[in-house]
Amino acid sequence: MKRPTSLLLLTAFLAACAAPTPAESGAFKVVASTTLVGDVAARVGGAHIQLVTLLPVGADPHSFEPSPQDLAALEDADLILLNGLGLEANLANILSAAPAPVVEVSDGITAREFESEEGHTEDDGHDHGLDPHVWMDPRNVAVWAVNIAAALADADPAHATDYRANAEAYAAELDALHNWIVEQVALIPTEDRVLVADHDSLGYFAATYGFDLAGTVTASFSTLAEPSAQELAALEDAIRAAGALAIFVDTTINPALAERIAADTGSQVVRLYSASLSEPGGPAATYIDLMRYNVSAMVAALK
Ligand SMILES: [Zn+2]
Repeated sequence: MKRPTSLLLLTAFLAACAAPTPAESGAFKVVASTTLVGDVAARVGGAHIQLVTLLPVGADPHSFEPSPQDLAALEDADLILLNGLGLEANLANILSAAPAPVVEVSDGITAREFESEEGHTEDDGHDHGLDPHVWMDPRNVAVWAVNIAAALADADPAHATDYRANAEAYAAELDALHNWIVEQVALIPTEDRVLVADHDSLGYFAATYGFDLAGTVTASFSTLAEPSAQELAALEDAIRAAGALAIFVDTTINPALAERIAADTGSQVVRLYSASLSEPGGPAATYIDLMRYNVSAMVAALK
């Protein structure tokens, strides 16, 4: 069914306000946490679901605080989809009171472990020990699609066949994306396959596509820590030692500190979309566009 443009614009506007998108009557209400989880949920759910994405474009999931409107959406949901692995730490408390089932879409993915620094305690009840940034490997997003299809099929069995077919079609696109990334990375000389990131968000990408991680501006899987002067000096040494050409800074992060490090070390700051999609019509409006944008930016900076 084709919708008139004005309705599409209205849909985009309402989605940006975290309000429900118009859908068929009686549609199943799904709340997704991040724009990435929301994009995959939209692909798998298609017209059968009424989707609300909590995080606005450009929001940092590690520091996201839900609004009263978000709480109302959660209360009203038939199904709640989270990235999981501790990414949505600030939602944990309110979700325990939500009436709908909560599904962590990263369930079943073998998570990277965080090598925590000495003296660093991990006792605040969240999964800080595991790296939540699984989506930087498209094969993990295929797991999301399968998990989302299973959760939707459980909750809305009338459309189970469609959900599974949508997930399968999407997984084929993700497979093609993975193959394209392998080809693109081959354009970068082996010795230049070195990544420095604003925080530890590129671990899955590095492991899958054969990059070294020379360091991070913030020594954490989260964006919330502040580096000390000593940590910054150590990072600059590591950048020089590895000959890293670029520091990759997410669009949700203020690049000021990375700019200073880049100036000190003769590297450059390159922006990536990893924590959030771009606005609709921007260069990373879908997960697949986001990965294509990021890989192209890496190849341009490192080859
Ligand atoms: Zn992150």
